[in-house]
Amino acid sequence: MTTPPLIDPFARAITYLRVSVTDRCDFRCVYCMAENMTFLPKKELLTLEELDRMCSTFVGMGVEKLRITGGEPLVRRDIMTFFRSMSRHLDSGALKELTLTTNGSQLARFARDLYEAGVRRVNVSLDTLDADKFAKVTRWGRLGQVLKGIDAALDAGLKVKINAVALKGFNEEELPAITEWCADKGMDLTWIEVMPMGDLGNEDRVGQYWSLEDVRKTYAQHYALTDLAERTGGPARYVRLEETGQKIGFITPLSHNFCESCNRVRLTCTGELYMCLGQDDMADLRAPLRDYPNDNRALQEAIRAAIGLKPKGHDFDYSRRRADGQVARHMSHTGG
Ligand code: SAM
Ligand code: SF4
Repeated sequence: MTTPPLIDPFARAITYLRVSVTDRCDFRCVYCMAENMTFLPKKELLTLEELDRMCSTFVGMGVEKLRITGGEPLVRRDIMTFFRSMSRHLDSGALKELTLTTNGSQLARFARDLYEAGVRRVNVSLDTLDADKFAKVTRWGRLGQVLKGIDAALDAGLKVKINAVALKGFNEEELPAITEWCADKGMDLTWIEVMPMGDLGNEDRVGQYWSLEDVRKTYAQHYALTDLAERTGGPARYVRLEETGQKIGFITPLSHNFCESCNRVRLTCTGELYMCLGQDDMADLRAPLRDYPNDNRALQEAIRAAIGLKPKGHDFDYSRRRADGQVARHMSHTGG
């Protein structure tokens, strides 16, 4: 590390950075995006070189885990150049983990390259194993392509975790089938509680809010559950299914009982740093990055100042939800 570690005002060490490398995507999941999205002009986005400088600066300040997300990270042109470049921080030992969250559509193409760049685990988002339902929820996605991508990832030696958004009346009955499919392939599975964004509940109603408490109850009808104490500094809780040995996670993005251990911040593809998923406060890091192309000190100062503003916890009722109950920011903006 080249500078003192990043410690926020509540003595939490910031060691985990999630980076959205694009706002674009080849899918249009109903809970995430509108069908006719207007994406950002290219000049707004950090270039791959800028992303490298930004991430490397964070690594120099003690970030040990980088999760690359989007939009769909694997549709960003030349993104493998970025992954390969980040692998130098794995080699040096400064970075402990380089990972990504993907919809899986491009994994058949990139799984081997990702492994070679030092990636060992990927999260793949998949809500249903029914091809028609998959097409409905993703609008533009094709299930077969994603399944091939998942197999390619496993073949390449990547550990795969499936993330499924819990949607009542949509993938509710599929819970045992998805769970067993994951068990057969040696994949862990995490259920995510849906946040009221995108078009969900509007013209593309494919499912409704399904509380993770109820998902858990459904599991208890099929399996013997053991609660795991394990926490990752994020909003996930885990149980072990005794029958399959699988770890099942539950992510409730809106709950704030994990804030005490929060170790993460989120960077958007335009260089905005969000200190808390539940608050709208952000810091512009693109200006100090671009204004001083050969000197990282202003960027480091801006990062440190931003971390100094990281709030104690969520404040959804006042700053996150709009009057109509919607969350102002889309997940594709901050990368979920
Ligand atoms: N495109 C990649 C993917 O789908 O995995 C990465 C970006 S995506 C925004 C990250 C995660 O956010 C996905 O697992 C997706 O299911 C989840 N997500 C998107 N919109 C959501 C919402 N409204 N509520 C809960 N999860 C959401
Ligand atoms: Fe794309 Fe991921 Fe959003 Fe689906 S959830 S539209 S795959 S960014």
